[in-house]
Amino acid sequence: GDSTYTLERFPLDQKNRSLQAWDSADEYLIDYVHEHHSHANSVLILNDSFGALACAFNQLTVYSVNDSYIAHQATLYNLNANELKADSLTRLNSLESLPNHVDLVILKVPRNLGYLQHQLAAISAALPAGIDVIAAGKTKEIHNSTIKAFSQFIGETTTSLAVKKSRLVISKTSGLDKHAAFPVSWPLEGSEFEIQNHANVFSRDSLDIGARFFFNYLPQTSKARSIIDLGCGNGVVGLMALKRCPKAQLTFVDESYMAVESARLNVETNLPEQLAHCEFVQNDCLTDFAANSVDLVLCNPPFHQAQAVTDHIAWQMFKQAKQTLKPGGELRIIGNRHLDYHEKLKRMFGNCKLLGSNKKFVVLSAIKNN
Ligand code: SAM
Repeated sequence: GDSTYTLERFPLDQKNRSLQAWDSADEYLIDYVHEHHSHANSVLILNDSFGALACAFNQLTVYSVNDSYIAHQATLYNLNANELKADSLTRLNSLESLPNHVDLVILKVPRNLGYLQHQLAAISAALPAGIDVIAAGKTKEIHNSTIKAFSQFIGETTTSLAVKKSRLVISKTSGLDKHAAFPVSWPLEGSEFEIQNHANVFSRDSLDIGARFFFNYLPQTSKARSIIDLGCGNGVVGLMALKRCPKAQLTFVDESYMAVESARLNVETNLPEQLAHCEFVQNDCLTDFAANSVDLVLCNPPFHQAQAVTDHIAWQMFKQAKQTLKPGGELRIIGNRHLDYHEKLKRMFGNCKLLGSNKKFVVLSAIKNN
């Protein structure tokens, strides 16, 4: 059909409202499915950023897989904003088993090749042979390695012509490779820990250099404290904090499901006796956390979202950290020098101390005074 939808990008109070909640790859995919698969009754959708595909195929039974908490929230919001029902939509996280019968699979090609391999292996394992798998992405993000992953896990693969700088990858399940090599693990330098990483985790294959520098400035205390590792990824920062503050109550937070699950796995296998005083939460920054409730927030913030370079997430993290901290509580962050977080924190907290720096990074501490 020719339905028109109004879609919002999440979070709603992002400064740059000109960024769109859909792209030409979504449009290409929607047109192609309408033209070639108009008889499909059920569809498995993977990596729908803000719900454009869930809205377009709302009349079908939809399974929507996403690693991102924000993407799932945005999908529900956009369905609702367009007066579409969420009854026929099943949301699945990125580690949940896929349905074993659908008429069609459509996906947005994720930037992370390992995550694509994980998803294609899961599709191959769940579905019988003969199901069409149609992927869409920006032409410049579809590489030989992308096509190779489809031929390895799904079946014979072709690509479409480019339209408005987007392209489709077209394949059909045929009972090929059903296993991708995840999680991956490596020893954490300066510790006895072994770090496991699910496919879509930040710095999956080695320790982030920012995190490594941050380790030199983590607090040490025997007093019980409540600490949040905000944007925890695989949980290395929280894990090192837990090692130094053995009685701490630690909450690992990330918007990526695979991140939160990796962090849980890493506490469970490396500090099992401390697992009972840890929590693992998928959330958009600290949106659902109680005000005035924690002593310390540790954060190695991100600086891009869904292909757009922006610092709105770091801002949101700092603002919500301030709300979540008890009076006298501390936000301690690592950041790239050039991002000038020092000024931001000083304005927001009324104070900011430089704890350490090298050529690339600064470690900053801000105290909540009121
Ligand atoms: N702490 C880990 C480390 O030091 O290796 C990961 C740091 S990485 C620079 C930033 C993390 O923030 C990523 O894991 C990303 O998924 C997470 N993130 C991005 N946006 C978020 C949001 N809105 N809410 C919570 N976490 C978010």
